Amino acid sequence: MNRDKLIEALKAIDVAGKTKEELYAEISAACMEEILSERQKAPARCAYYFSVEYLMGRMFYNNLLALGVLDEAREIFAKKGFDLNAFEDVEDAALGNGGLGRLAACYLDSAANEGYPLYGFGIRYKYGLFRQKFVNGEQVEEADDWLRTWGDPWSVRKESEKIEINFADMTVSAVPYDMPIYGKSVNTLRLFQAEGSPEAEKISEYLYPADDTEEGKLLRIRQEYFFSAAAMRQIVRDYGKKYSGNFGGFPEHCVFQLNDTHAVFAVAEFLRLLTKEYRFTFTYAVEIAKKTFNYTNHTILPEALECWDMRLVERILPEIAQILKRLHLYAKREWEAGGCSPAEIAEMSVMRRGRVSMANVAVFVSGKVNGVAEIHTKILKAQLFSTFYKHYPYKFLNVTNGVTPRRWLMLCNEELARFYDKSLGLKWRSDLNELREIHCTNENNLSEFAAIKAIKKQQLAAYIESKEGVKLLPNAMYVTQVKRLHEYKRQLMTAFAILHLYFDLKDGKLPDFTPMVFIFGAKAASGYKRAKAIIKFINDIADLVNGDEDVNARLQVVFVRNYDVSYAEKIIPGTDVSLQVSTAGFEASGTGNMKFMMNGAVTLGTLDGANIEIVDAAGGWGNYIFGAKVTEIEKIKESYDPSEFVAQNLKIKRVTDTLTDGTFGDEGGELKEVYRCLFEQTYNSPDHYLVLYDLPKYLEALLIANREYQDKELFARKQLMNATHSAYFSSDRAIREYAEKIWDL
Ligand SMILES: *Cc1c(COP(=O)(O)O)cnc(C)c1O
Repeated sequence: MNRDKLIEALKAIDVAGKTKEELYAEISAACMEEILSERQKAPARCAYYFSVEYLMGRMFYNNLLALGVLDEAREIFAKKGFDLNAFEDVEDAALGNGGLGRLAACYLDSAANEGYPLYGFGIRYKYGLFRQKFVNGEQVEEADDWLRTWGDPWSVRKESEKIEINFADMTVSAVPYDMPIYGKSVNTLRLFQAEGSPEAEKISEYLYPADDTEEGKLLRIRQEYFFSAAAMRQIVRDYGKKYSGNFGGFPEHCVFQLNDTHAVFAVAEFLRLLTKEYRFTFTYAVEIAKKTFNYTNHTILPEALECWDMRLVERILPEIAQILKRLHLYAKREWEAGGCSPAEIAEMSVMRRGRVSMANVAVFVSGKVNGVAEIHTKILKAQLFSTFYKHYPYKFLNVTNGVTPRRWLMLCNEELARFYDKSLGLKWRSDLNELREIHCTNENNLSEFAAIKAIKKQQLAAYIESKEGVKLLPNAMYVTQVKRLHEYKRQLMTAFAILHLYFDLKDGKLPDFTPMVFIFGAKAASGYKRAKAIIKFINDIADLVNGDEDVNARLQVVFVRNYDVSYAEKIIPGTDVSLQVSTAGFEASGTGNMKFMMNGAVTLGTLDGANIEIVDAAGGWGNYIFGAKVTEIEKIKESYDPSEFVAQNLKIKRVTDTLTDGTFGDEGGELKEVYRCLFEQTYNSPDHYLVLYDLPKYLEALLIANREYQDKELFARKQLMNATHSAYFSSDRAIREYAEKIWDL
């Protein structure tokens, strides 16, 4: 990359008479020309990341930062009378749902930054994750036509490299779109677009189509096979050509990472190619696969563990179905020879009751299987994959997730980054461990940090006012829960806590209460009714609280619409307290928690996922921990009866009663359903996520934080402690662990 040449090119761009869209295209094109001029020789060994989701967000600022021209480009265009912030209107590339897709994006960023050859494969969805609106407090979904206004100047279509993918009933062209990922090395994210016929195009039309119908399931299988097979054919055929069909050295040159089970068809396709196209024996093909594949598990929620009906696989992918059956028998023989019991074999089986367990295929074939936080990996070993762990202990390891400090600190919090520059020089930018040199007891540091936090809160308030039309209380503490809406994440528990505070404030019971603003952002999956009911409930609570003159100078609730990466970049730096309150054992890691820590929000949460490691790193003192621990849950459940619990806790009864007593409108009966799910024995596990059980302790923690917030210096110190001890949660650290412990790069 020739930086001077790029600067000259940027200077030469004439802004007069051009629309924002035209300028966006022109500036992006100038950067792309430089990025693509970079010639790097193909490395001897590459890692390939297979993910059905990439939640990239906006590429513009990120790429200009990576190219080292962001500040100068801002100046150049400011002189021409054009503010580069105008591109904050550019649509996010939201080709992912949440944490898993965002992790993939952070890892690509970090691998390029660290100079590791990591190439991503995925799907170029025409419509990303839906855009969320609220109508009378209810979620309404609109198609996210992300390419319409701004196009996609950061990718290059590779027409000549398209690959034909055959299903029993159709042939589809997989056309690659290559997005360079710029850093010390220039890597590529290759997203395939399905073309050929209107039927074919449907495969890459939507992210996660509803999969509760047969139609939807077939489409999902097609999506998974489509991109994994396209990627695998490209890799295997390129290799086959280069090494004249000799695959003995394949594992020395290629290593695969499966981001959850969504790309496990890549295993079957690999075996198919080696046995059918290259005529190797099945045993040989499996042995090569075992040295090449690795799998990251992201969840232990049973509903998220993919098991496909073999009849569906057979109908559209007969050859792949054959391969999976052979693999089933192959594994079974290996286990029999190894002395596994029939029960153990059944547990680990590739096929069970006519269904193929994608997780079992992944664990059997993979050389390494990793969880995404210490506690999650422990649970994998002790529960979900305990039988595998007994027979293959050496496969299992932990790699705690991370987030990229470029997007989640340097770009979203330039003020904090400049404070670090001023205090430490630039070294921290390549090694966040340097941040520990910032003394958290030093008064100067504390007042500078507090001033930056105040600015970020003002910016957030201005942004929310412009987007949502709600004016946030200026001198309040900002307490945030932003993440996908899920029962295990317990937004409902926060809703109850707010109602509790509301009633207490009305009753005059909290005389010294520091004003508090609760900020929510969350999308519910379109078919997830209960999650949608919780959104409506929180919006109704917001109306109640914000409209009540008795309390609305001290308590405020806002649920922002369409929470996405770009919204996160505004919300996170402007937050005082990060709510991470999942039921212990359910949040595999979380990455939102890390972004908040990096921006100096304290965590108020449970000992779940990476929260545990965050609290460790920040020194315990800096955060607010409450609630049942993983080791206690089983025991609690033995005797827990939510009705009895609430009967003994009348203040909780008052808030849960609002679900049924007409406080809020409930024509469709959705709130009543939420109520039944908490209390009725007809649900096999009422209050399965211990929302009510943990609520008293949650309130206690909120009130302690509320009181301590009055001591500005103390709170700033807690926040700065978090920010300066967040190095471990950089995805640069995480990607180095993958590179060293799994990929051997
Ligand atoms: C980081 C991120 C997530 C993941 O948040 P968690 O709190 O870890 O669930 C989800 N969505 C967006 C837009 C994110 O940036």
